[in-house]
Amino acid sequence: MKISRIEAYVVEQRLDRPFYFSQFEFQTRQICLVKVLAEDGTYGWGEGYGPATVVKAGIEFLAPLVSGEDPLQVEAIWSKMHLRSLDYARRGVLVAAISAIDIALWDLRGKLLGQPVSVLLGGRRREQVRVYATGLYFTETDDQLGALVEEARLYAAQGFSAIKMKVGLGVETDLRHARAVRQAIGADIELMVDANHAYSLSEALSFAGQIEPLGISFFEEPLSPEDYDGYRELRQRTSIAIAGGECEYLLAGFRQLLSQRCVDIAQPDICGAGGLTEVKRIAALASAFQTNIIPHSWGTGIAFAAGLHLVSSLDLAPGRLRMPEALLEMDRSESALRDTLTRPQFKQEGGRVAVPTAPGLGVDVDPESLARFTRSS
Ligand code: CA
Repeated sequence: MKISRIEAYVVEQRLDRPFYFSQFEFQTRQICLVKVLAEDGTYGWGEGYGPATVVKAGIEFLAPLVSGEDPLQVEAIWSKMHLRSLDYARRGVLVAAISAIDIALWDLRGKLLGQPVSVLLGGRRREQVRVYATGLYFTETDDQLGALVEEARLYAAQGFSAIKMKVGLGVETDLRHARAVRQAIGADIELMVDANHAYSLSEALSFAGQIEPLGISFFEEPLSPEDYDGYRELRQRTSIAIAGGECEYLLAGFRQLLSQRCVDIAQPDICGAGGLTEVKRIAALASAFQTNIIPHSWGTGIAFAAGLHLVSSLDLAPGRLRMPEALLEMDRSESALRDTLTRPQFKQEGGRVAVPTAPGLGVDVDPESLARFTRSS
């Protein structure tokens, strides 16, 4: 069996309600998907994280290397793509193109072998994965605080046991928001904050010191992803767990983050950091540093399914009788792409989502939705 065709799609949605975070505003959501087909018509879906048109160009660059290969030999194909891009892309969007193709190959291989990806990754340690709600972005409103409180209450009412909110607008504003959200959801729901690297070290230290009484489970991307020294110093000077890595790429990138002891929790994006092949290796490296991964996930059901299978297969550190649950990010911000493009839809119940049991990733793309959202150029 050979790979016969690779198709890349840029899907786009104009948001009903634009939202922003500490770096920029979203008017639209745009994602690049890839479909890898075998000679017998079996196919796998993948997804890249990052600017979709650039990811698509990357996929088109890599496609001739993949075409004609044996779809069962996923890691060998990964190495071929990596070697061809290493001279130009030790990190960045071309790695997202590799990631997208790699995820599609895992999906395809699972379908060809009749096994879910989590089994191929080494085995299902858990049938359900605990998820946290990502939302609480900023919107143009006269009452931002009220909007955040209302949204946080909604996630709590939906059954989420952990919620992550955006910060990074300035220490005083962020404190006001975090205190209000904590008060709204009560003490029993986990709360995390994500600055998307908007703080200086002194601001991050000030903010961390002041939110410690709020019981924050982790402080995500406090500093620039380039500031490894800053991460290490912040981590030494706060009791709050520091999370990061969604802007990090490949095993070599995570080696820097982990060996310099920058984070308590590593957050590779499977669709960006090198696909399932490489993030499985990143998880193994992290375990050598007694660091757990909570994958970053911000895309369609394809990205989320990849996250579910990977997290299902993880061993957590340190081992103990009563293990904390593994965790995965579940984006709740407005996304018709996430909510309508793939099927079946993932349902959260009691703060957990079932890991698919069907061969491959266990999700398919709805052809009508694909046609509706695909950009023509
Ligand atoms: Ca983030």
